[in-house]
Amino acid sequence: MDASDHLRTVSALLDLDEFEVLDLQQDRHGKQNVIGVIPKTTAGLCPHCRGVCDERHQTRESRVMDLPMGGCRTELKVTRWQFHCRTCDKFFTPRLAALAEGAHATERLLARLAELRALKERFPALARLSEHREALRQIFDDPAIHTPEEGRWRLTAWCERGRQLGLAALEKFNGTLERWLNEIANYFASRSSNGRTEGFNHGIRSVLWPAYGMTAFGHFRLRVLHAFG
Ligand SMILES: [Zn+2]
Repeated sequence: MDASDHLRTVSALLDLDEFEVLDLQQDRHGKQNVIGVIPKTTAGLCPHCRGVCDERHQTRESRVMDLPMGGCRTELKVTRWQFHCRTCDKFFTPRLAALAEGAHATERLLARLAELRALKERFPALARLSEHREALRQIFDDPAIHTPEEGRWRLTAWCERGRQLGLAALEKFNGTLERWLNEIANYFASRSSNGRTEGFNHGIRSVLWPAYGMTAFGHFRLRVLHAFG
């Protein structure tokens, strides 16, 4: 795949027609994408006189959070043109439909977060499960845990907390976690994992990461059953 194919693929995944994709950078842990984009339009509508204006003055760069892509936190590095309107002798930066002005977020990210909030209000058990799941992710990502002993202690406490919360969906998962506790906790010694823990981590992460991707309780339930069942 050459560079332009790569950018076309990123562009298709991003699916924001307003923008051309310039580049994609991933941090070294592969946990964050930064996608450089620039609006396709080369003219702007002056907000003062409503005239069409194509005198580009300078670019400004801003950072905007978007929906996660491929399980990774995704940020857009947006280069925006500032235009100069000759009629009014004023400078302006046109609004972009995909961006929520002043929020450093895309409209679709805000919409997804609102959906998620509504879903959690409607299904309190789902909210508890979601928060509990996030707590497990944080244990695996906590750089302060260096020894298998501490890992075992934290994971056991996590299982116990899940039982206190009455998260019946996790009973089988807790059993598996406790059965393999020693093997799994070895992950914290070296942070590199063998095939079995790799598979296990993948199983957890496949449910942990796409947190924003669940728009319906039914889908969420199927995901949990698929991974933990
Ligand atoms: Zn004007």
